[in-house]
Amino acid sequence: MSIASRLAEIRARIADAAVRAHRSPADIRLIAVSKTFPIDAVRAAYDAGQRDFGENRVQELMEKRQAGPDLDARWHLVGHLQSNKARKAAEHAGWIHSIDSVDLLRKVDLAAAAAERRVSVLVQADLAGEATKHGAQPGELDAIFAAGIGLRSTAIVGLMLLPPFAENSADARHWFTRLRTERDRLAASGVPSAMLAELSMGMSHDFEVAIEEGATMVRVGTAIFGQR
Ligand SMILES: *Cc1c(COP(=O)(O)O)cnc(C)c1O
Repeated sequence: MSIASRLAEIRARIADAAVRAHRSPADIRLIAVSKTFPIDAVRAAYDAGQRDFGENRVQELMEKRQAGPDLDARWHLVGHLQSNKARKAAEHAGWIHSIDSVDLLRKVDLAAAAAERRVSVLVQADLAGEATKHGAQPGELDAIFAAGIGLRSTAIVGLMLLPPFAENSADARHWFTRLRTERDRLAASGVPSAMLAELSMGMSHDFEVAIEEGATMVRVGTAIFGQR
């Protein structure tokens, strides 16, 4: 199957899941996660109308962006960001999904200001408290959102989740529900709604469940580009 036909199938499944959840398919953004795949694969998806692309590593994001200067694509950094790479990320990504500390947020903002760019970021929550995973603990979220108010070049636009691997989608649903609950808690505590507009959750094996639970961004790699 070609990338174009896989994309068409994923878009149809997104639309079906949205309708099941009484949501508009237009409110769900598909991010094609192209990590490890060459620029030709990105181009094939682009030619099929795809505009949002995700990468795990800053270096690879930068290389692909530079390999396709003619592409009017939006580049999302979805993988963990080390603070010593904050500058490069702010210079090349339009969206960073993995902000997990006040310090990292401030570094990205300073670098974005220096580069005269505007960067949209999401705060990655570690709801399972997994030592090996990155992300902010629930108790740290409030301070990060507070620090996001009044930044010059960076806008917090929502929350991101990379849940523990689940064999079946019912287990994944539990984590998606928890991220939405966390979003509602932050909203009730006074965080402006524009900072909580996006929920980035759901991957190839569970994006439909994520949409049913409120995802506004799904990050799909394998189901579009094939096995890595
Ligand atoms: C690789 C990756 C994805 C895509 O995963 P697939 O299972 O290939 O769809 C999504 N989010 C993050 C953070 C990733 O690293």
